[in-house]
Amino acid sequence: MFRFEAPTDGLCINSLRLALLNYITSKESNSGFIIRVNDSTKIDNIDEIIGDTKEILKKFAINEDIVIHKSEKLKIYQEFAYKLVKNKKAYPCFCDTNGCCGCKELSSKDIENYKLTNRKFAIKISNQEYSCFKIIKLDGDATDTFSAAIDDMSMAVTKIIISNKDSLDIDNQKYIHKLLDYKNSINYIFIPDIKIDKTFTIKWLLAQGFLPDAIINYILSSKDSDIFYLPEAIKKDNILDIAAKESIFDLESLKNLNRKHLREIDSKRLSMVFGFADQDIGDLLKLYLDEASTINELAVKLKATFSPKECNRELDNLVNIIKKAPIIAEYSEFREYIKDRVDIEEKKLDAALRYLLTGLHDSVNLDKIYKLIKSYILEVIKCR
Ligand SMILES: [Zn+2]
Repeated sequence: MFRFEAPTDGLCINSLRLALLNYITSKESNSGFIIRVNDSTKIDNIDEIIGDTKEILKKFAINEDIVIHKSEKLKIYQEFAYKLVKNKKAYPCFCDTNGCCGCKELSSKDIENYKLTNRKFAIKISNQEYSCFKIIKLDGDATDTFSAAIDDMSMAVTKIIISNKDSLDIDNQKYIHKLLDYKNSINYIFIPDIKIDKTFTIKWLLAQGFLPDAIINYILSSKDSDIFYLPEAIKKDNILDIAAKESIFDLESLKNLNRKHLREIDSKRLSMVFGFADQDIGDLLKLYLDEASTINELAVKLKATFSPKECNRELDNLVNIIKKAPIIAEYSEFREYIKDRVDIEEKKLDAALRYLLTGLHDSVNLDKIYKLIKSYILEVIKCR
């Protein structure tokens, strides 16, 4: 059984990577995959964050076997904590400080007196090696450390892939297991975070038009990797070795991989993302991939092609000629046909046709584009 802790501030590159690694490794070993949700945390929009996280994990085809909602298990955590207090392995703390405090030395009589005055208290464990830490907070909620340790015990979690930066927390969880006399060992595998200058949330990357497949490919691969998909990643045996290496997030590399994944999509299917169902439009989008790398960047190009153009008299004239033209298969013939009917120098004509047919002024292969849009030509050459 593997466990992933959903972050309370939304999924970022590193947390998604941990979810993927735990999920993939659980599939490799045919064991279950648990997602823990810290929904008892006091963050205003926590329900929204959790909802987003679940939705995003589905988009990445990460399907959990079990979801644990921390809020539903508070009583269980409290029972374990009281058991530890009863066995003198934890102590009530009335002073609401972090770390070790004098409350550990309170006599039973002092404690009784405090309780008589209904004074709120936290529960702390004193760990000889790692100082003291809270397991129950003053408001009765269990700490993340304690609740995770209890859930891992009760769900018989066997393996967890976790960030290096959580190693101290895991030491505390191991100590809790020891105090509770939990005999089964959990294999914790620590990996370094991918270094990132700026926080890119997965929600943001998806909104920018990055494909889940490309994001998976990027965060599970070493530099300049070939493209692969999640089912292949599950069969790879070096996923954890790659994850163990230090790496730096690079948006440009992700863009390149995204472009490669977009090229792999069936053209008709790609066109459907943009409201068409036409292989030609998909092929047109793939031409635009020379200068675009995300769905959003492609949308800008396609919109330029199909939006009414800003026309002057010269362009108006060209539009009228095109409207009367017969169906012409090749761009070179189409260009000749127009050239014979206008008095514009060739360079200017090329620039005008480029703008009329694409809405763009820069480098595009008009020969290829013309073939793909010719069935839409009357729509494309409209003036504003
Ligand atoms: Zn205290």
